[in-house]
Amino acid sequence: MSDYDLVVHAARAVLPTGERPVSIGVTDGRITAIEPYGADLSGARTLSLDADEVLLPGMVDSHVHVNEPGRTEWEGFATATRAAAAGGITTIIDMPLNSLPPTVDVAALDVKRAVAAQKAYVDVGFWGGAIPGNIGQLRGLHRAGVFGFKCFLLDSGVPEFPPLTPEDLHDYLTTLCEFDGLMIVHAEDAGSIEHSPAAHGSRYAGFLNSRPRGAENTAIAHVIEAARATGARVHILHLSSSDALPMIATAKRDGVRITVETCPHYLVFDADQIPAGATQFKCCPPIREAANRDLLWAGLADGTIDCVVSDHSPCTPELKRPDLGDFGVAWGGIASLQVALPAVWTQAKQRGHGLAEVTRWMSAGPAALAGLNRKGALAVGRDADLTVFAPDQQFVVDPTALHHRNPITAYAGQTLTGTVRSTWLRGQELVGDANRGQLLTRPTDRAARESAALPG
Ligand SMILES: [Zn+2]
Repeated sequence: MSDYDLVVHAARAVLPTGERPVSIGVTDGRITAIEPYGADLSGARTLSLDADEVLLPGMVDSHVHVNEPGRTEWEGFATATRAAAAGGITTIIDMPLNSLPPTVDVAALDVKRAVAAQKAYVDVGFWGGAIPGNIGQLRGLHRAGVFGFKCFLLDSGVPEFPPLTPEDLHDYLTTLCEFDGLMIVHAEDAGSIEHSPAAHGSRYAGFLNSRPRGAENTAIAHVIEAARATGARVHILHLSSSDALPMIATAKRDGVRITVETCPHYLVFDADQIPAGATQFKCCPPIREAANRDLLWAGLADGTIDCVVSDHSPCTPELKRPDLGDFGVAWGGIASLQVALPAVWTQAKQRGHGLAEVTRWMSAGPAALAGLNRKGALAVGRDADLTVFAPDQQFVVDPTALHHRNPITAYAGQTLTGTVRSTWLRGQELVGDANRGQLLTRPTDRAARESAALPG
């Protein structure tokens, strides 16, 4: 008889305390032992990492647009969760819009869950939506296990998911306070964008001018003050404008309950390098200048930015309008789920950051945002979600080799550093056709307390 279902020997492993050589025992899908490297643990199965590999906790991507049901030709659970697994991501949380119906009431959540349950290759959770008229649905969605609520402060791009007004936001946050719900916000100000030149044509600079930093700055200032006034928990999605970092840092210092994410594309690309007509780079808020990118990295380094998540938001090839190359009419959204980890690592490494930091930004950070107390760390009591990563091996991104549905990505042709050699979910390697993913619900307060009491 073996003591463990799985034993992993890793000369390099990223633990919450930093990188260490360890041997890990897994029982019933959870990490039950972390011993010095080479410890004599007996496992029904043993995994010994190669000399060029590092053991990471599975990445957690809290910002993924799966679009199924309703726009499954854009993306679906089968393809998105396979792309996630191939990219070292073991948990995704699906955004409430672009699917039909949008996840704005419990009935719609049930529809999504029924579809995802058949196809989840990795674990999948759900955000709810906050739109005008559904304030009465928030508590029910919260009880049904959504991790929080997404709202827009300007046109979302789809008619079935309209934005909240600034006044609405205050009311919705007040309601969320009744059960300590979390509001996650697409923070661009509708008025600022209305008063900016409209996007048209193939030049990226024209698109950038249509979504100025001021639109983000204004909206974020408003979210901060609404959170300060109501005491609600808020999260800024996909931060692009580095101008907002000082006010976010100030809000945090003041005790406003605010967290912030940014995305790989804002950390990797530079507006001046985007070719004319290259609408695969169009997303909202937009990719900005190199100097802005450097300041986002500084915001990560000093802890103002809490996490890095993909905002994987694909569509069909036609909607990117390659025939026109017009940034005004192409759908906005970048497909990046499978390459998010190597894309961020490639830049992080060049900038002197280590894998422990990348793991904090892409695993522990998003897990903490969502309250996923069994994810986000190699620690006793956590799920044995494991990513075997070769941090020095390079590859060139071939869109046709990616698992997401449509072979378009802004990363096509990029040479990235770091390959995912294998991905494990609750102690089982993700290979073949077996769908091992589970549908996750927000841990109850009681589960969170029990988890907090676990050692490690
Ligand atoms: Zn998004």
